[in-house]
Amino acid sequence: MHNMIEIIQGDITKLEVDAIVNAANNSLLGGGGVDGAIHRVAGIELLEECKLLYGCNTGEAKITNGYNLAAKHVIHTVGPIWKGGLDNEQILLENCYINSMRLAFENNCKSIAFPAISTGVYRFPKEQAADIAKHTIQNILKEKNSLEKVIFAIFDLENYDIYSHLFKG
Ligand code: ADP
Repeated sequence: MHNMIEIIQGDITKLEVDAIVNAANNSLLGGGGVDGAIHRVAGIELLEECKLLYGCNTGEAKITNGYNLAAKHVIHTVGPIWKGGLDNEQILLENCYINSMRLAFENNCKSIAFPAISTGVYRFPKEQAADIAKHTIQNILKEKNSLEKVIFAIFDLENYDIYSHLFKG
């Protein structure tokens, strides 16, 4: 199971996978960070499809086409804004990974790439977020495994360092 999880440093929009996960906001109408990057590369059609989805609750996920991306699909999930850790943030972040994986399975995806959800403008502590990402994905893969590859596409060096150490052991 371990060798199907891959950590790469770089831009998630470049990946040729069945689905990339977008760390979106509740409106699903685009934003900064990875969301902005995905919409820029995917093109206006992605925004048009997102408009039909009427937003997304925190911790939930919705799927669209990938349009001009190399990825076939985009799974849009909304991470929690960090408010100190007493507002259910950990469970909500876990739900992002669970619901994204569920959509990947339902859509017969064989490969999926995740960014470090919530660790940008939403300020979730990076170590804790990486821990949640790792354990949640590993638990899911123990239960059901029709995927061939799960990639963590880690953009910033601080997170890359954290993920590299976490997945070494
Ligand atoms: P959030 O609002 O969930 O915090 P951000 O987009 O601000 O979302 O940040 C989430 C993570 O995405 C951050 O760790 C940031 O470094 C990373 N990121 C930004 N651009 C990209 C990209 N093109 N590919 C992958 N990860 C990215």
